[in-house]
Amino acid sequence: MTGTARRPIALLGVPLDANSSHLFGCAGGPTAIRQALRSGSGNDATERGVDVIGAIDDQGDVEDSNERGSVADADAITAAIAAILDDGRRPLSLGGDHSVTFPILRAVAERFDDLTVVHVDAHPDLYDDLDGNPLSHASPFARAMEEGLMTRLVQLGIRTANAHQREQATRFGVEMLGPRQLERFDPFSIRGPVYLSVDLDGLDPAVAPGVSHHEPGGLTFREVLDVVDALPAPIVGADIVELNPSRDLVDMTAMVGAKLVKEIAGAMLRGVA
Ligand code: MN
Ligand code: MN
Repeated sequence: MTGTARRPIALLGVPLDANSSHLFGCAGGPTAIRQALRSGSGNDATERGVDVIGAIDDQGDVEDSNERGSVADADAITAAIAAILDDGRRPLSLGGDHSVTFPILRAVAERFDDLTVVHVDAHPDLYDDLDGNPLSHASPFARAMEEGLMTRLVQLGIRTANAHQREQATRFGVEMLGPRQLERFDPFSIRGPVYLSVDLDGLDPAVAPGVSHHEPGGLTFREVLDVVDALPAPIVGADIVELNPSRDLVDMTAMVGAKLVKEIAGAMLRGVA
């Protein structure tokens, strides 16, 4: 083990919103979540009483061009995650739009077999094509399934699946659960390593208004925290995406993101010796 093992979780910002649709602004997400983490309004402890901040090493941001459909940006994200994993640590990434998750998963899947991805979102993000951009934030899980990056994809909070996306889910064997079906989520059925991807618009916009696509009728923050708490070890990586600070109200979504950083980091530590 290297000295960095004392900080087993690597926080990585990915300031990229060029693959968004409808609105831009979530390139400012990493900065807003870091500010909320450091705001002094709370402390370093998780709800289970783990002082987690000392376990997190902030790696700064990926350098990206933030150009629409940029393969170079995707490759830079994959390389940054690969470097973290090869250093024996676990990446916790801050988006950015949801396009960042596909290049992240390329690095994770190369190092972990039999991966289960748990994905919280209002949207399935399974479009074969939206606006001619294969790296769109509406398509990361289509690209990931096409490349066979995971054994299971379990989606929670989905409430916008149109006919095309339902077809895609069937084609790829995606397990899609809407807000009314959350109780069907069975964390005990998960075998092997877990990757968690949280799109903040999976939450109800009443608790997380700072997102580009408001979709009322979403999950409560307590429900999402309970999902995080129930995930079995090892959680080998995670991301929190789609915070758009220009849409936020009194930084409340940034604070939701910051609390998720702490609680996800705490859950990740359960699998670390
Ligand atoms: Mn999404
Ligand atoms: Mn979404």
